[in-house]
Amino acid sequence: MYRIEPVDLGTFRHEVMQRLFGRIDQATSGWAGMTAAEIRSLASQVIKELAHSMPVFSSSGRNSFLLEIVSGQLIDAAEVQLYMVQAGNFKPWGLELKFGPDDQSSQLSWSSAKGVQLQLVGRIDRIDLAQQHKLFAVIDYKSRVVPVRLDHIYHGLALQLGCYLLAARKILSESQGTRWHCAAVLLAGLAGGVGRDEASDDPKQRKGLLADYKYRGLIDSRYLQQFDSSHQHGRHPLFGYFINKEGQVGDLGRGPLVPAGAIDALAGCVQQHITTIADKILDGDVQVQPYRSGTQSPCPVCDYLPVCRFDPTQSRYRGLESLGKNEVLAALNIAWPKKDVKVTEQKNKR
Ligand code: SF4
Repeated sequence: MYRIEPVDLGTFRHEVMQRLFGRIDQATSGWAGMTAAEIRSLASQVIKELAHSMPVFSSSGRNSFLLEIVSGQLIDAAEVQLYMVQAGNFKPWGLELKFGPDDQSSQLSWSSAKGVQLQLVGRIDRIDLAQQHKLFAVIDYKSRVVPVRLDHIYHGLALQLGCYLLAARKILSESQGTRWHCAAVLLAGLAGGVGRDEASDDPKQRKGLLADYKYRGLIDSRYLQQFDSSHQHGRHPLFGYFINKEGQVGDLGRGPLVPAGAIDALAGCVQQHITTIADKILDGDVQVQPYRSGTQSPCPVCDYLPVCRFDPTQSRYRGLESLGKNEVLAALNIAWPKKDVKVTEQKNKR
């Protein structure tokens, strides 16, 4: 009997989203005319068709049960995606966009100071565009969404979103030919809650659904209104930013909002870290030197612990400072605009 692993479910979730978005693009109503009930019904149909072509789901009671759970979550996630598209000006433009060395992909390469030629290989789940404003947003689907820590990007511990941003810019410049600005890089969950029976029609239900699928990531604060102009105050249940009673963005030490220039600066950090790592590898500098930030280190949850021979009593950790969001921005020389915004610093938990 084949046992379905989390990676199989991840692939299934991505495939469902890709097929679903293709169907919506073909539908006469398109994104604008679709209702929550309609996208749920369409998602259910796509899931059934795909699952039918994968006999593994009916090969055991466990696998059938997993399919039931994942289906409920995907139908909810589809309704959330519809909310995002209808609430703002961003529309899905590209799905499963490859970058890498083959002829069909955009090629993202550069040279290090030591002459090492680097080329990134990967695939972006989705790019949305707000055409009129020449803005783009990178969406990465996740089964489990965790907060994005700016200090992890800054220190080079989290490279993925920065790589996607660099690749998205290249893909867009090749196919659209004009300069596009990144408004956001977002992690969108496809597995939140246990699945609802029907569309969340009233505002309270919808708020609960959006909170279950809350996005994480970075949003350039200049483009907030492009994501949901109807949100007037309080914390946005899906995007997580906060607007106070006076209608100003606040609580900027937490949440996804960053000032102008921060997203590009963080992508620059990622590119620099990749370059440094490549140069070090080619110099033969491959010593085992895990980081420690506060009391956190990756070793306790690392599968390679039994074989890597790192011994914390004999070897030294690479100390990295745990930084709050505004501390990272200060290190990047990026400031919030001088206006009456409430900025409260929230240190990352150690
Ligand atoms: S256990 Fe070894 S391989 Fe894993 S993070 Fe720690 S040092 Fe690196």
